[in-house]
Formats: sequence, C-alpha cells, structure tokens
Amino acid sequence: MMTPLIELRDLRKVYGDGPTRFEALSGIDLTIWPGEFVAIVGSSGSGKSTLMNLLGCLDRPTAGSYRFQGSEVSELGAEELARLRRESFGFVFQQYNLVNNADAISNVEVPALYAGIDRKTRRERARSLLERLGLGDRLTNRPSALSGGQQQRVSIARALMNGAEVILADEPTGALDSASGAEVLGLLRDLHAEGRTVILITHDPAVAASADRRIEIVDGRIVSDSGGSNAQPPAVQRKKPSRSTGGLAPWEAAAIAWRSLRANRFRTVLTLLGIVIGVGAVIVMLAIGDGARDEVVSRIEQMGSDLLVVRPGAPGQRSAEATLTAEDAAAIALLPGIRSAAPEISGSMTLRAGLQDLRTTVLATSEDYGDMQNWPVQQGDFLKSSDVDAYAPVVVLGQTVADALFPGGRDPVGAWVLAQNVPLQVVGILSPKGATSWGTDQDDIAIVPLTTGQLRLLGQRYLRSITVQVERGADVHAVEAAIDALLLERHGLRDFSIRNRAALIASVEQTQETLTLLLGSIAAVSLLVGGIGVMNIMLVSVTERTREIGVRMAVGARPRDVMAQFLVEALVVCGLGAVAGVLVGVVVTWGISALGTPVLFTLPPIVGAAACALLIGLVFGLMPARKAAQLDPVRALGAD
Ligand code: ADP
Ligand code: MG
Repeated sequence: MMTPLIELRDLRKVYGDGPTRFEALSGIDLTIWPGEFVAIVGSSGSGKSTLMNLLGCLDRPTAGSYRFQGSEVSELGAEELARLRRESFGFVFQQYNLVNNADAISNVEVPALYAGIDRKTRRERARSLLERLGLGDRLTNRPSALSGGQQQRVSIARALMNGAEVILADEPTGALDSASGAEVLGLLRDLHAEGRTVILITHDPAVAASADRRIEIVDGRIVSDSGGSNAQPPAVQRKKPSRSTGGLAPWEAAAIAWRSLRANRFRTVLTLLGIVIGVGAVIVMLAIGDGARDEVVSRIEQMGSDLLVVRPGAPGQRSAEATLTAEDAAAIALLPGIRSAAPEISGSMTLRAGLQDLRTTVLATSEDYGDMQNWPVQQGDFLKSSDVDAYAPVVVLGQTVADALFPGGRDPVGAWVLAQNVPLQVVGILSPKGATSWGTDQDDIAIVPLTTGQLRLLGQRYLRSITVQVERGADVHAVEAAIDALLLERHGLRDFSIRNRAALIASVEQTQETLTLLLGSIAAVSLLVGGIGVMNIMLVSVTERTREIGVRMAVGARPRDVMAQFLVEALVVCGLGAVAGVLVGVVVTWGISALGTPVLFTLPPIVGAAACALLIGLVFGLMPARKAAQLDPVRALGAD
C-alpha cells in the first residue's frame, strides 16, 4: 500500500481578525498520490493560491491537518518548513520571480546555495538543466535580457535544481503568449512523465485540460474532483542529487551581497562614504589629537611635574639635620625609571668682576641641573660632567647676575669673576627665567660645579636637596617609593623627605584623560553616523528586495540564511568602508603632518577604527537582517 504524497483533512485558512476576518479555505479534504498531474482550477479569489501556499509549506493552515509523505507538517517551525521547501518542492510562479541582478545560471543555482551544494556541482547541474530546457545559449543573460517564456523556463530549471519531488506551478502560463505557454505546459508534462508530481493552478480550462486530474475550487471549497483514486505510481524512479544540510556559506552570502551592492553602485558609494569618512576621521582625529596631547603634556611636564625633590630631615621636621650626600644622589641616579638626580648645595656670596660686585645665591650642582629644570643657556655652555669631576673653577651666571657684573653689553663668557677671592671663569649665561610665583628673582643666581662649591666656596659636605627627574612615562609614585626604600636602606632611618609636584602631576593626568575622552567621543560620533547610514541603506535594501527574500525563502532559505545574507551585506559595506577609510585616514594624516601639525601615528587607532566599523556593520545590520529573516514568505512574495 502506497502512502499518499499529500493528505489534507478539513484544512482551513483564515485571514484577518474580527470584522476583517475572511475564511479563504473552508475545510479542504484532498489526497494527492505520488506522480499525479493535478490541475486546480477556480475563478479569481476562490482560494487557489492560498491552497498552493499551504501545499508548498510557504504558509501554515489555521486549522486542519496536512500530512506530507505521511507526516504532519501543519505544526512545523520555520526551519523545518524551509527544509521541506528546499528538498521536496519546486515553485513556478506566474511572475517568474527571478533575481534581477543575477544571470540565468546563477538564478537556477539559488536553491542549491541553501542546500550547501558546492559551487562546481551547482554550476554543472544548473547548466545541464538550462541546456535541457533549451537555454544553453542564454546562461549569462540577466532576466531583463530574456523573454517571458525564457524567464519561465529559467524558473522551472530553478524549481528542479534540488531535485524537487513536487512541482507547484501557480498560473505558470498566465503572463505568457500562447506559444510560450504551450511550451511551458509541455515542460510540465515532461516532468510529470519523469515521475514528478505536478500541481498546476490555473483559471484557464484549456490549460487545466492538459492535466490528468482536475480539481475545482469555489469560495474556498472543493466542488469537484475528477478523481484522485486512479492515481498512478511514478513511471520512473528518479535519482535525487546528493545534498548536504549545510546552510548558506558565508562566501556565498558575500557574493550575493557583492552583486546587490554592484547593482546599486551609486547608493553603495554614498553609504561607503559614510563609513570611509567615519573611519578616516577617527584615524586623523586620533593622530592629531594624540600629537596635540603629547605636546600639551610635555609642556606641563616642562613645568616640573616629572621632578621629585629629596630634602634632608624627616617628613614634618622643621629644622633639618644635614644627612644627604652626593653619594646618595649618585645611588638614586642608578635606580630604574630615573633620568637623572642632581645634588644641590647653595649659599649666599658676593661675586665681583672688575669694579662691579653683587651678593647673590651660589648654587653648586651637577651638569644635569640645566636640562632637568628646562633651563637652557643663552650664551656659552652649561656645566659639563668633566667640570664636576675636575673641581673646575667655572661658573654659569643667571641673567640678573650677568647684567649686574657686566654692564654695558660686555660679553661675560670667558671673563673671570671672583667669588670670595676664588677666581671663576664664566662659561655660560642662562636664559632669563623671571620671577617665581612668590616673587623671587630666579635669574639672581650663579651656578658652579658641585665639587667646586663643596670644596672651594661653601665648604659643605651635606646637600641642601637632591632634585630627581623621572623618566618619561615612568610612574612618579613608584619611583618615589623606590627612592624612599633606597635612602631608608642607606641611612637606616627616615631622616629625609621626598616631595612631588602632586598638583602638576594631577593636571597632567587630568589633561590626558580629558583629551582622550574628547577624542573618543568625536570618534564614536563619527562612526555612529556612518553606522546609521548603513542601517538606513540596509533597511531600504530589505524593503526593496522583499520579493527576492520571498523567492529565496520559497526555494528553501532558512530564516537564518536570510539573516546571514543581510548581515554579511552590512559587513561587506563596512569592511570595504573600513579599508578605504584606513587608506584615506593614513593619507590625510600624512598630509597634515607634512604641513607641520604634530601628529602621533600609532597602530591601535587604525586597527580599532577598522574593527569598530565591522562591529558597527554587525550591530547596525542586525536589525534590518532580523527584519528580513522574520518576513512571512507569502507576504514577501506578494510584495512589489
Ligand atoms: P486565487 O489565487 O484563487 O485568486 P487567493 O488564494 O489568492 O485566490 O485568495 C483567496 C481569497 O483570500 C481572496 O478573496 C483574497 O482576497 C483573500 N486573501 C488572500 N490573501 C490574503 C491575505 N493575506 N489577507 C487577507 N485576505 C487574503
Ligand atoms: Mg492566485
């Protein structure tokens, strides 16, 4: 005993609700056997297409039972229905419903994409189907370059692509001239002769006459059936092509995306532009911003945020005992994260040059002091390490001292001054520094080598202080802790204190944070704008291609295949935009830096911007892709 192919029991379909409620099918009982050729006839609006959609698993019945090959399908989910459509049904529509931007052979291949059949097998099969249907010389024609009859033959080839058992044809000749119509009917008869079940919907009695069995519908009910009992078993057992269950491969989705993007070139370029500008702007902004931040930060650092001052005496102790030595300074200078450590001794002393004399502060220190204080010489040189080593009798004068001792524009460099009867040769003049914020004239100073000062001028062994410069990028607080530990070890007790310029450090940190935040938000906004553009265009794309989505679903695309297709399309747009944006960003940044604006070019913003663009494709593509995936196949097919 053979199982019926299709068994409908009291099948009902109700559209709408309440006052708009309409029962399109009111209790259909129907059995179709494998290998039948059935024509369903009825006037327009009688429910033929509704029945066809139910038979082809494009839609679910409101009530009743539908058994396909013995198993109930009326309760199946979207995935399983898609599988049935993919494997068992081939649709032929009145309007052909070909994908306009793909050529004939690609159109025929579509169902195989969703069955996961490899490209080579797919191509060969599509070619042989088209050749068999007399379109061997039209393989690369787009639908717009084919006649109606040819398009319908392409759509029949597509229906056969996955080896469908059942061909469902809804008014397949409705849009064709009589000759083409007869040709299509002939093809359907051939398919039936091969053993396929053909269900043909028509309102044309002449067309219906070519079928073996004729079922008439009026107002959603079967009013006559020329006989399903005398069904014939299939004349030929066909071999089905092997198929895998894998879905749409990502590269196939990318190929579909590419085709659709190319078909709308101008629109694609505009959307791309949004992403290109977004990514480019992020790269340029960050490069300029980082450059500017570096400059601002280094200016603040020049004010001394990278300096630590070690003083004798325990913290909080007012009158300090002398405890720090030049050896302490040398030991500190060897710690990691420290650029230099300058020991300092000072005293008040009268300097004389010729007839002029002046009481000033003499500072004995090392050669690092000038750099550390960002205090360059205006003339001559600063102290050298050899001066310190050799107890050299040299002095560097502050601007005030130089002016006082050498009035009338005499050049002091090379001249000798007397400091308490010790002759010192002037080797350099410091650039003017002005007063401190509390009014002390900083230029009223004479700087001598530490050794000279200790031994010949001030006669002190112990230091007033050690100024330490932290290396760029090193953590000031960690360095401070290291110095503390070192001196504690050397002295055995905390008879010193370390001070940092906390306010300046905080202002560096805050400036950095503020600038980073500012740059980050500019970057985020520009990418967001690009993303909204992508979302907008994807929504348009989904709306425009609703019918195509319907066709893809009819030939067996799962909701997630449709979703993947649109997500990949968004990703392709954003990926192309990211690549172009990186190029534009790099070129523009390079141009800006060539014009003299400081820029800091690093890899992370480039990688980050490109990654963000892809992420945006994913996030902003998700909503349109979901919208596409959730479309109802029947509605999608009905869209225009
Ligand atoms: P046929 O294909 O025989 O011309 P259909 O099956 O397309 O007829 O439609 C049968 C009836 O159901 C028609 O009266 C039509 O207006 C109605 N109908 C079809 N689809 C819908 C729908 N989505 N919502 C409401 N009514 C519908
Ligand atoms: Mg119809």
